[in-house]
Amino acid sequence: MLAAALVLGLCATASADDVLFENVRIFDGKGAVLSAPSNVLVKGNVIAAIATNPIQAEGAERIAGDGRTLMPGLIDAHWHAMLAASSPAEAMGDLSFASILAGEEATDTLMRGFTTVRDVGGPAFGLKRAIDRGIIPGPRIYTSGAMITVTSGHGDFRQFTDLPRRTGGPLTPMETVGGAMVVDSPDEVRMRVREQFMQGAVLIKLTAGGGVSSPFSPLDVTTFTEPELRAAVEIAENWGTYVAAHAFTSDAIRKAIAAGVKCIEHGFLMDEATARLIAEKDVWLSLQPLPELMRTGLREGSVERAKADEVWPGIGRTYELAKKYKIKTAWGTDVLFSRALAKQQGAILASLVRWYTPAEALVMATGTNAELLALSGQRNPYPGKLGVVEEGALADLLLVEGNPLENIDLVADPAKSFKIIMKDGIIYKNALTE
Ligand SMILES: [Zn+2]
Repeated sequence: MLAAALVLGLCATASADDVLFENVRIFDGKGAVLSAPSNVLVKGNVIAAIATNPIQAEGAERIAGDGRTLMPGLIDAHWHAMLAASSPAEAMGDLSFASILAGEEATDTLMRGFTTVRDVGGPAFGLKRAIDRGIIPGPRIYTSGAMITVTSGHGDFRQFTDLPRRTGGPLTPMETVGGAMVVDSPDEVRMRVREQFMQGAVLIKLTAGGGVSSPFSPLDVTTFTEPELRAAVEIAENWGTYVAAHAFTSDAIRKAIAAGVKCIEHGFLMDEATARLIAEKDVWLSLQPLPELMRTGLREGSVERAKADEVWPGIGRTYELAKKYKIKTAWGTDVLFSRALAKQQGAILASLVRWYTPAEALVMATGTNAELLALSGQRNPYPGKLGVVEEGALADLLLVEGNPLENIDLVADPAKSFKIIMKDGIIYKNALTE
């Protein structure tokens, strides 16, 4: 009703917190073209009206768009808010120091135009609470809490001196801070998964197969047994949400899907038949165009480097398979332990043009990623529509100097390109008034 009244140019009262973007061309997070010059009214934290006619909104803060692009805030579907910018030692050490580091990085993340992240591993509960309460600026966080792994699985960073583990015995530092939890039976899965939900997890992340950065998890190994996978899926479904599984190989992916996992992370060593299966089962594939720097940053001759050398050629092949079978594909970065790489978050998005048009890449990082976030169902911490510019959606918006559908490199230079960054109706950056 309100929106209709405004579009007709009827007099409407606006509060001081309302914001009217005038003369903007909209990339809506769904389509491949910009709109005609339009006006967009944000009331509270919601996009209340979009019209090509003038919108009457007395008292609202007016922003002269001057033909710039208005687009949804960006979403990174594979992020580690607590691990992106710290060293491994810092991340597994003093949690208060790690949280402050992560808080600074969260502000940087928002200032790069990322208004939402899907946090798939790490103790991000306190960080999220601080951001949501307005204590520090940062993105919305959909977090899984600790990665759930098995002994010698991906995410088990213990050393031989930590073995043998005594059931019920003391936790290692990695577990104490909540970075990763080791489970070795369906019962332990249930306990650790429920603990994540108790703390505010909105999805569960487990590692169904080997990974690059853990020294004792060979790539070919399938780590969880099917009863363990099913236990995690059952608890997640009881909580109205889903399990995402780190998995490279066809075997690990197939077992995860058979157990009811709804999203596969990476998948870079899958065969064609498995790609077809993912499409048939309507399972999400969360991919990352991992930069070469991540691989070459690993010491030559190390186990980790050898595994990276095996995985990297699969990245391009997997993107081709995802396109060929029209798999529901999310985009993310998976930056770990590197502030320098974290700064490349937008550049990593722009690098998708190896396989996609700029419009396809930007739709993936906005409207499509938001569909994956919605899979958190009953646990969704921010009910409302994200990743789109439409009436009724949450007001996470970027005002861009230029047209990112023509020049996607604009998102790689957020300091210059993003004149306004708004999250939840609040302006966190306004470079027009400077
Ligand atoms: Zn990751």
